[in-house]
Amino acid sequence: MTAYPFEVHEYDVVVVGAGGAGLRATLGMAEQGLRTACVTKVFPTRSHTVAAQGGIAASLSNMGPDHWQWHMYDTVKGSDWLGDTDAMEYLAREAPKAVYELEHYGVPFSRTEEGKIYQRPFGGHTTEFGEGPPVQRTCAAADRTGHAILHTLYGQSLKEKAEFFIEYFAIDLIITDGACTGVVAWKLDDGTIHVFNAKMVVLATGGYGRAYFSATSAHTCTGDGGGMVARAGLPLQDMEFVQFHPTGIYGAGVLITEGARGEGGYLTNSEGERFMERYAPTYKDLASRDVVSRCMTIEIREGRGVGEGKDHIHLNLSHIPPATLHERLPGITESARIFSGVDVTKEPIPVLPTVHYNMGGIPTNYWGEVLNPTADAPDAVFPGLMAVGEAGCASVHGANRLGSNSLIDLVVFGRAAAIRAGQIVKPGAANVPVNKAEVDRALARFDGLRHAKGNVATADLRLEMQKTMQADAAVFRTDKTLAEGVEKMGKVAAKMDDLKVTDRSLIWNSDLMETLELANLMPNALATITAAEARKESRGAHAHEDWPNRDDANWRKHSLAWVDGAKVTLGYRPVHLEPLTKPEQGGIDPKKIAPKARVY
Ligand SMILES: Cc1cc2nc3c(=O)[nH]c(=O)nc-3n(C[C@H](O)[C@H](O)[C@H](O)COP(=O)(O)OP(=O)(O)OC[C@H]3O[C@@H](n4cnc5c(N)ncnc54)[C@H](O)[C@@H]3O)c2cc1C
Repeated sequence: MTAYPFEVHEYDVVVVGAGGAGLRATLGMAEQGLRTACVTKVFPTRSHTVAAQGGIAASLSNMGPDHWQWHMYDTVKGSDWLGDTDAMEYLAREAPKAVYELEHYGVPFSRTEEGKIYQRPFGGHTTEFGEGPPVQRTCAAADRTGHAILHTLYGQSLKEKAEFFIEYFAIDLIITDGACTGVVAWKLDDGTIHVFNAKMVVLATGGYGRAYFSATSAHTCTGDGGGMVARAGLPLQDMEFVQFHPTGIYGAGVLITEGARGEGGYLTNSEGERFMERYAPTYKDLASRDVVSRCMTIEIREGRGVGEGKDHIHLNLSHIPPATLHERLPGITESARIFSGVDVTKEPIPVLPTVHYNMGGIPTNYWGEVLNPTADAPDAVFPGLMAVGEAGCASVHGANRLGSNSLIDLVVFGRAAAIRAGQIVKPGAANVPVNKAEVDRALARFDGLRHAKGNVATADLRLEMQKTMQADAAVFRTDKTLAEGVEKMGKVAAKMDDLKVTDRSLIWNSDLMETLELANLMPNALATITAAEARKESRGAHAHEDWPNRDDANWRKHSLAWVDGAKVTLGYRPVHLEPLTKPEQGGIDPKKIAPKARVY
């Protein structure tokens, strides 16, 4: 093996990731007086959070009556009763505080006439515990809320003297005597290796949308945190729950808003048929997201997909007057031109149900502390390690996330992690000495991939994984497709040993970086399809044709997946059913959040 000299950096806390969750945690840690490093593979304001448009949920009551208990109820119901009740209470109660803090940090929110933060309605957010009309709860900075939040938090973190290590790729965690004591990273622009030695490591690495062929998320969303955790012998949680949006642009995955169908757009198959009329005679193309996505998948599976590979669907807008398109859908008109070369006034847009969000992730409590669950201690904490944002699973989204509940999750739990670290990390105390054996282990894996001389190119294996996941762990799942998928993914994962990397350099080696990312995507994908195959019910985003009903008696539990190479071991842990606050102390009445049918 090549010798890799490395530089050691001593910090109280190292945060991996500079999206909304990583930056909120970084800022909070620095405010607590902790010496904090933030390590990120892309420039902070290029993290996927920058793409979030719609907004961030909090019961501010600026645009009509609202209450944190209504927000909590909507989140419980949205999660299809799989979220942890204590975490969901914490989210809904802390949301207004977290948003006002963002306002004071300088996020340029849109305003009402009286100068209050503007709030818009969003799917699944209601009043009166689902009995009243929709509520305007989603705070927005025009249609660039994520962009506004990222820029503000980055500036504030610099002001608090947090230190940034930009374009550093975290390779693996360092585990010493059953606790996390740091992380090994590769500096992309000069090829040097860096060890961040710390009392607390926070993973804020985002989702793993890129395990699928078509995803709205950035190419950098490769589940690196989940990969590192799996290699450390810790489990991933509820990975079978993957949210799909019906209309991502084929190939590019860029989102085409539901508004396109709202303005009269409709879907057709290879026979030119408006097939949604057959499946949903009343709402047709405007049935709910999961229904439309499932129908599109059935059309493709039955051979009526469009295009050379018969593997996508057409979204038609050309019957809509050009003036209307220009006025109401200028953004997607431009996206369609740039990403699929289509003039929407003349031709249909090629679309495909597209992965949009990962409900599952690294299990944590509501302080962001990573769990190492055992049968006797399902909530045991793994010391020295936290996970926040889309990488984590607190779990507030359970089996299905409501729109605008992710951005609030990022800031509420990024903030909570900092508050908790302020309690348990002693600023400036000596760190455990660098664990050389662990650094060697991480670098041996790195070196092995760098010099991989097998027969399969990284891009080819990645495509094989993505196509398998898209076909067999999709919106539409059956015992048969899932069993086939588990088998196929086992074979795909086994080919990791036969990879071929052609660029051996250490500087801007995108071939090697993509290989490290593939090695992270793989355990996420394996956990997803294996946990999905095992779950014999339908709940939230997990729509199982052979098990169409939710089964609370047997399946109201979190699934856990330990992934070791191509092997997956499953386990389960109970859902937290108790709210944090008793009703007599102002908490929610447990009867209000008892499970019932999820209808909107
Ligand atoms: C197109 C789109 C629109 C959306 N709109 C909304 C919306 O309106 N409202 C809402 O609530 N949610 C929305 N979501 C969901 C939400 O935006 C995401 O869930 C959220 O932004 C994820 O934030 P994060 O901080 O967890 O991760 P990200 O923003 O993805 O950031 C991940 C960070 O980790 C770093 N990183 C990853 N791996 C490594 C590594 N190995 N080494 C070093 N650094 C690493 C990256 O550099 C990056 O800084 C949207 C999502 C998409 C894709």
